[in-house]
Amino acid sequence: MVQWLFGLSFEQLSSMIERFDRAKFRARQLGQALYRDWVPDLEAITTLPAALRTKLTEAGYIVGLPPILQTFRSVDGTERYLIGASGDQTVETVWMPEGDGAEDNDDEADAAPTRKRATICVSSQIGCAVNCQFCLTAKLGIERNLTAGEIAGQVVAVLRQHQVELGRDRINLVFMGMGEPFLNYDAFMDAVRLLVNEVGLPASRMTVSTSGIVPAIERFAQEPLRPRLALSLNASNNEVREAVMPITRKWPIEAVLEAARKVPLAPREKITFEYVLLGGVNESLVHADEVVALARRTGFPVKVNLIVWNPGPGIPYRQPEDEDVQQFQQRLIARGVPAFIRRPRGRDIYAACGQLKKTTEGNS
Ligand code: SF4
Repeated sequence: MVQWLFGLSFEQLSSMIERFDRAKFRARQLGQALYRDWVPDLEAITTLPAALRTKLTEAGYIVGLPPILQTFRSVDGTERYLIGASGDQTVETVWMPEGDGAEDNDDEADAAPTRKRATICVSSQIGCAVNCQFCLTAKLGIERNLTAGEIAGQVVAVLRQHQVELGRDRINLVFMGMGEPFLNYDAFMDAVRLLVNEVGLPASRMTVSTSGIVPAIERFAQEPLRPRLALSLNASNNEVREAVMPITRKWPIEAVLEAARKVPLAPREKITFEYVLLGGVNESLVHADEVVALARRTGFPVKVNLIVWNPGPGIPYRQPEDEDVQQFQQRLIARGVPAFIRRPRGRDIYAACGQLKKTTEGNS
């Protein structure tokens, strides 16, 4: 049986390799090769003796870094990838150079000049069970959870593709691709720990967005190491939210905010409200005032990322007018709530928010 090495924690690598070689440093060498050198196969791990590589191969171990099967390039520089997952399935990951217009996570000034700046949007499931009415991924339903190796592997596959130098290049991760990370909580958090502890990406440059899975937010609040939190709000009251996000019937806005209040924030850390603006549904100034009232009620610092809805086939909404988007943002800012408009990225290749649906359309 084939067994993937990529995705195993240092402790798991240690107990696995002990069966083949008693030298304690072998696990560290293997971890270095997998998570820092991003080797494509076992034969490339020349720090391990050839005999050990052979034994591992005979036992069915492979590196298992997920392959990029197809790349779609947008005119704006965004790239969408179909990445291989086990069982001949694919998952979607997006590379957005220079971020997406949302506020940067970086509160400190950079000491060293950076070469590349980009945000990688990572998937946590194949499909999604949450059924947000504005989202193309929802149309797939849920196929399965991704493993920790498949989640972290998307990141490393893309870092490798772009020859990123960690420490010099500035990479943000957003867990906002296909799926609801908090409905695959354990694998998602294992992936975060791998990416922080083994790959070397700082947790402060990661953001996870949830549709509001209350028990998982409460677990998240206990994590010693965690990304920043974004709540996919998308409506200013429960009535509108139930219509666009039926999950609101299970966990209304107040319950989500109550759970989020338990997350201990670092100095200057804010919780983000993600807000997809849908024409004629949630983008009036009355809605903006309700968002302000919600932000004030939270008891924690909030910033709002406004996302102009991206059209998709069979989704019964319309885009808001530019003027309404500007007015909505200005209203929030005028009432003391920081608000940013996320530039739509990669719309022409179905890479923008809510468009990930394993489509093979776009410019490959
Ligand atoms: S917006 Fe996110 S949580 Fe909602 S259906 Fe789409 S992928 Fe799932």
